[in-house]
This record gives sequence, structure tokens and C-alpha cells, in this order.
Amino acid sequence: MTRVRAFLRPAATGLAVALLALVTGCGSSAPAATPRMVTPAGSDPSDPSSAGPGPSDSPGPSASGKTKSPGAAPAPASGPLNLAAVAGKTILVDPGHNGGNWAHPEIINQLVPMGTGSKACDTTGTQTNSGYQEAAFTFDVGTRLVALLRSAGARVVLTRDSNSGVGPCVDKRAALGNNARANVAVSIHADGAPAGGHGFHVMEPARVGAPSNAIVATSQVLALKVRDNYRARTGIPASSYIGSDGINTRGDMAGLNLSTVPKVLVECGNMRNGGDAAMMTNPTYRQRMAEGLAAGLAAYLASLG
Ligand SMILES: [Zn+2]
Repeated sequence: MTRVRAFLRPAATGLAVALLALVTGCGSSAPAATPRMVTPAGSDPSDPSSAGPGPSDSPGPSASGKTKSPGAAPAPASGPLNLAAVAGKTILVDPGHNGGNWAHPEIINQLVPMGTGSKACDTTGTQTNSGYQEAAFTFDVGTRLVALLRSAGARVVLTRDSNSGVGPCVDKRAALGNNARANVAVSIHADGAPAGGHGFHVMEPARVGAPSNAIVATSQVLALKVRDNYRARTGIPASSYIGSDGINTRGDMAGLNLSTVPKVLVECGNMRNGGDAAMMTNPTYRQRMAEGLAAGLAAYLASLG
């Protein structure tokens, strides 16, 4: 929902390629990245990310940021996960964005169908103030989720198998779930909202005359199951800045509009919020996030009887 500046440090050059990206939350209607060369890494005094890792991005819930502390959130659930309902099911896991998107605006800015018109192929995604990129976060959580689901007997289809590529475009991501006739689909994202907002939210499709019309109702059930289980497993509260109790109904998301299988998009937290960023940069929390998503998918599938 916000404009963010984002930076990349290409290993090959040692220089930061500064990209000015317009990121509309995630999934983004954004006309994305316009490359702007070249700022030495961390040298831009106007950008908060140039300060490098700070206490607000340090791992651990105790390293709360400038805003509300995650320590105030309910304690996360622990103990065994009940993923029995995913056995034998086909599940699409879509880690948002891709690590190479930053360097290829000519690809990700191409317009693709979105069910109600067209929008950009993909966007760069956001990042924490210390430079932990959303694409890396979503791929890590997605990888953890896939491991959980496969170990419980699910057949998993992934939209990308690395964090070094570009895309695929949002319409292709939806098509992968549709073509696999997935029983359920989830897109994993993190938001880049103003720093004062925190918490997660789950996007569900609105009824907008798109292919998703047929799965609006089932996706609403899915959204509630994912919300409840993600919140319980992670202890992260519902968003303080968008949606209603962690649910946000959207008609402008290509990946939702084009889906013909039940699907939600989860904004796991706000990367620009110090407290949320502290959790997202902590692998222990990323595992809990994956567990929360897995439990939500399983609860949805179990509800089908
Ligand atoms: Zn995103």
C-alpha cells in the first residue's frame, strides 16, 4: 500500500543498484522498478536502509522496534502439528516475487492479464530497513512450508524453485495452481507498509467477475482457517493498519482473480515495522509462520470433510 525505496547489492559488482520501486503492498498494481545507477552500498544518507542492520532488525522478539513490541502479542502455540488432512492433496505454494526481479524491470513491468484487465507481470517486493528482501523471506517460508506439507503426504506444486530467477508473472503463478487442479493454493508475501503499522493479514478474492468468482466462497473459508492458525501458531497479531481482524478482501490481485482453485494471499507481517522485521529475520519465527500456514491449509481441507 505504500511507496518504498529498495536497494540491491549485486555480489558481482559490489555496488548497490538503487531501484526506485512503487510497491502496492504485494501483488501490486505497481509500475515497478526503474533502475537508477549507482549508489555505493549503504551510502545514501536519505535512506534508512543505508544505516545497515540495526537493533530493530535484530533477530528475536525481544528486539522490538520503534513501534509496538511483538512481546505484547499472545504467546505462540507449540507442540505437534496436525497436518493429516493434507495427505494425498495437491497444494500450490507460491512464494511471492523472485530474487532476480530487481534487475529485470523490462520483464516484470510487462503487462499480463489479471482477470479484470491487465497489470504488471510481477514486482520487486519490499524489504526490511536492513535489506532483508521480501523475495528471500517468502522463498524461505515457502520452502519450510513445502517441507512440512510433503512430509505429511501432500503433493506440492511450487511457483518457483529458487530465489535467483525472475518471475514467473502473476498470471502464470495462478495458472500453475489451476492446471494442477490444486485442492488449495496459498501465496506468501510480506508487506511494505508505513513503519507504524504491524501484524499480518490474509487477502481473499472479491467477487469481481473474474475466473475466481467460483472460488470466492471457499476462499473465504480458507482465509479464516489460515488467519486463525497463523495467529495461533506465531503469536503475531492481525494487522493494525489494514483489513478487518486480519482479513482483507481484494478485487485487484491478479493471482487471486485468476485462480479457479481456493486461494488466499498472506501478508505475513510488515517488513517496514521494526517488531515485525525482527520476527521475519529470525528463522525460528519463519518456521512458526510456515507451521501456521500449514496448519491453516490442513484445517481448511479437514473442514471439507
Ligand atoms: Zn509481496
